[in-house]
Amino acid sequence: MDEHLIAMSAPGIGEAGQTGQWRREYPVILPSACLPVKSGRFSCQICWAHCPDNCITKGSPPVIDLFYCKGCGICAEVCPTDAILMRPEGS
Ligand code: SF4
Ligand code: SF4
Repeated sequence: MDEHLIAMSAPGIGEAGQTGQWRREYPVILPSACLPVKSGRFSCQICWAHCPDNCITKGSPPVIDLFYCKGCGICAEVCPTDAILMRPEGS
């Protein structure tokens, strides 16, 4: 058994509707501040691990699926290098 596997659910449309529809802010990743991009190594991925909607993919930099992102800002809070900014919807 691969000890690095963890249980993750896939994003989907819930009873309250598509989460991205009621977002007031959206996250933007700044690649120049993202650790995997800066180091050239697959590292960090803390944003991926903490997103409650599982709408961030692992990567360098990670990619956020705004169709499901509800704009909670957790990813921006947990990012150790402030590489994720929250911007007002529509800006
Ligand atoms: S938490 Fe921040 S530094 Fe780490 S992968 Fe995500 S955006 Fe990059
Ligand atoms: S704002 Fe919330 S829902 Fe959107 S990507 Fe970040 S942690 Fe996930």
